[in-house]
This record gives sequence, structure tokens and C-alpha cells, in this order.
Amino acid sequence: MTSGRPPAGLARRVAQLQPSATHAITAKAKALEARGIRVIDFGVGEPDFDTPQTVKDAGIAAIQEGWTKYTPPAGLDELKQTVVEKLKRDQGLAYHPNQIVISCGAKHSLYNIAQALFDEGDEVLIPAPYWVSYPEQVRLQGATPVIVPTEESEGFCLSPAALTRALTPRTKAVILNSPNNPTGAVYPKSLLEELGRVLLDHHCVIISDEIYEYFLYDGAAHWSLPTLLPDLVGRTVIVNGVSKSYAMTGWRIGYAAGPAPIIQAMSSIQSQSTSNPTSISQKAAIAAIRSGTGFVTGMVTAFDQRRRAMADGLQRITGITCSLPKGGFYLFPRVSALFGRRTPSGQPIQTSTELAAYLLESAHVAVVPGGAFGAEGYLRFSYALPIEQIRTGLDQLRDAITALR
Ligand code: PMP
Ligand code: GLU
Repeated sequence: MTSGRPPAGLARRVAQLQPSATHAITAKAKALEARGIRVIDFGVGEPDFDTPQTVKDAGIAAIQEGWTKYTPPAGLDELKQTVVEKLKRDQGLAYHPNQIVISCGAKHSLYNIAQALFDEGDEVLIPAPYWVSYPEQVRLQGATPVIVPTEESEGFCLSPAALTRALTPRTKAVILNSPNNPTGAVYPKSLLEELGRVLLDHHCVIISDEIYEYFLYDGAAHWSLPTLLPDLVGRTVIVNGVSKSYAMTGWRIGYAAGPAPIIQAMSSIQSQSTSNPTSISQKAAIAAIRSGTGFVTGMVTAFDQRRRAMADGLQRITGITCSLPKGGFYLFPRVSALFGRRTPSGQPIQTSTELAAYLLESAHVAVVPGGAFGAEGYLRFSYALPIEQIRTGLDQLRDAITALR
């Protein structure tokens, strides 16, 4: 029986909450496809490759063997141990399993870090362009995201001077993400060392999102800050997962490695919220991480070809300027030269959101507006789609942009 009364109002913390722009674009593209329109999807950031067969087999075996019950809320010991071995192998860092928590994706790890650490009044430094979820997760705790702009001329990397200027006694954490989403920037070793030296004098937590660690091109190398400055190990939380490296976005397994008190707090949050990540996915993630880097190396070879084709194609379109970043699977071209033009039907284009909407509706090409990443004047293209589709998408894009008046 209904009382006829309206539902109670939403909590204050969700009043300002923005839904994820990356997922929103995907939803719009899928809605068009449901109407029979073929969309070239440069929007979503997930590998188009299938999950490796050995990983699928491990998931199937887990079901057959009865791994279908609760596990400890922070994950299976076997998976934590596998993560410990991976961090030793790839980062040269020694962790104890009680410094690892397994979550429902890296996004969930990041959210639980925010829950475990941030109070009202805390400031969290986020270099822009940033991944869409960082500021929202900080705001959801009532804390303040402090956006620190970076320069395209400096490869979209945070400079030590900008970091120094942004740090205050209220700075609770800094979020670093290399290779970066959305720019593809890879922080060079020397720059990370300089940033680390600035942070040595400031007692805040460093959150290092390393989910694209293997997506590297042109001889670039990935460095984890605590590897370079061991004094920072005690206050760095590394976040990673299997979504990108093993084409497992739907399996939802990520993890965090860091100081035991933070990890214990995150584990308690999980025990009172999600409980464990899916048991079957955890078993599959063990097989994935143990398989090493052969699979992702194959993907990276294909992505490198796409990266070049895509950047070259974008660069040829008048009004678009595109550099060639060394990491991730995104390009982040500047499109502000197109602002002020009009669509063939007379609509003015003033923002990246309006441009992205025009491209989706007219060219059937999905891209994410730069504004969602704190960088108006840019668009994000994921090149995680087959090269033939990239070529078709570039043609459609060029025609739509040429049609602007
Ligand atoms: N960090 C960054 C920078 C990302 O691009 C993503 C993509 N989804 C994530 C974290 C989260 O990945 P997932 O939750 O699928 O592990
Ligand atoms: N990380 C991907 C992206 O940026 C997937 C979507 C998301 O989790 O926001 O597109």
C-alpha cells in the first residue's frame, strides 16, 4: 500500500553528483545502435580484445569446483598472495598480504580509499586532465578536490612547481595516474623523482593509479613512485586491477596495496558494504595475473598501430591538433579551434560537450568531451577498436567537421 506521500529528499552529498561521463557516452551510443544506427565507438575505455581463454577456463573451473560462496570480504588469500608476487615482480616492492585488499574493480578500490581517508575540510590534489571519477569520489566524502592544471606543452604532466603551489596543511592526498587517462601521458622517471622529493616534505597520502602500467609505446617505461623513493612506501597506496591488462572489464576485480591501517579500514568498509568481490572472478584474476604480460604485450602491439593511424588521421583534420602520447589507449586532441562554428542546421558549437553531441548525432562517432576530464577544448578518443573501424570513424569525423560552417 502506498501512503501517497512523496519520497524523502536525496542526501545532500548526491545533490551535486555527476554520473560518469564515460558510461553516459556509451549509453547514448548503445541507444543509437538499438535504433539500428551503426556507431563507431571511440568513447568507452575498454580493450576490444576478448578475455584470454586460460582466464575464462579458470573462471569456469572455479564454478565447477564450487568456488561459488562468500570469500573473505577483502578477497581470497591466494589472490592477495598473487598480487604480492606481482608487485615484487613488476615494481620490486615487498608487501605483506595484510597490505592488500581485493575490490570490485580499481574504481571500487579508489572509492574505498576515499571513504577510508577523507573528511570534510580535507583537500585532495588532482592534476587535470583527470579521470572522471576522482573528483566525484572526493566530493562524495564531503572533502574538496583541488584541481591542479597541467600544460599540454609539458605533456600534460604535473610539474613540481604546480604541486608545491597546490600543497597546503589541509592536503590529505594527491592522486597520480600514469599512464594517464585521458591524455595518455607517461610520467618520466626524473619527473616522478622530483615530484616525490616535493612530497617527502609534506605528510600526505599518495594514491598512485597504475591501471594502464603495461600500455606503453615508443620505449616508454612505467615507474611506480615508491620504487623510486622508498621513503614514500609508508604513505602510498597503489591501485591497479585486471580490467585493462587482461581485457576483463566485466569481471570487476581491482586491488589496492598500501599501509596496513588504510588497507584494514578499506577491508572493514567492504565487509559492511559489498562483502567480497565475486569469488569466480577472483579465481580468474589469479590465473590472469600469474599468466604475466604476454597477453597485454600482444594487445599493445595492435594498439600501437591504431594509435599511430588514429593520431595521423586526426592531425589531418583542419581544426584538430593531436599529439602522440606514449601510454594508455587514448588520444586527447585539442579541438577548441572549432568552437564558434555552426552545424549545417545552424546550431552553434561552443563547448566540447556540444561538439561531442554533434559528432554522435551527425557522424555517428562517439567521443567523450574534454570538459568531463576538467579540460574544456579537448575530446577524448579511445583507440581500443579494430583498425578498420578506426579508419571508417576518421572518415565520418572528417566529413562532419568539414561540414561545420
Ligand atoms: N582508473 C582509471 C584511470 C581508469 O581509466 C579506470 C577505467 N575504468 C579505472 C581506474 C577503473 O577500472 P576498473 O574499475 O574497471 O578496474
Ligand atoms: N575507465 C574507462 C573510461 O574511462 C571505463 C569507464 C569508467 O569506468 O569510467 O572510459
